[in-house]
Amino acid sequence: MSASPATNFEIDPERLIAAEKLNRSGEKCLLGYFHSHPNGTAIPSQTDAAMATCDGRFWLIIAAGQITAWELSTDSKFLEQELVFE
Ligand SMILES: [Zn+2]
Repeated sequence: MSASPATNFEIDPERLIAAEKLNRSGEKCLLGYFHSHPNGTAIPSQTDAAMATCDGRFWLIIAAGQITAWELSTDSKFLEQELVFE
């Protein structure tokens, strides 16, 4: 957990490495990352932008009952993606 969970998040490195191993082995597919924004806005923060890498995975952000999906472009800009629930 981040030292400042109200404004930052941190993925447990051991869990991330385990997920990457499963992804590389083909056993599981790592689609992306999700986190919440306690401030109520479901858009990427400046911290999100600073921490994101262009790895082709989705960022899901949950805030105030809303879920948004984002993908980082090759020029490091978050592009909102449509979420479809079936
Ligand atoms: Zn965020």
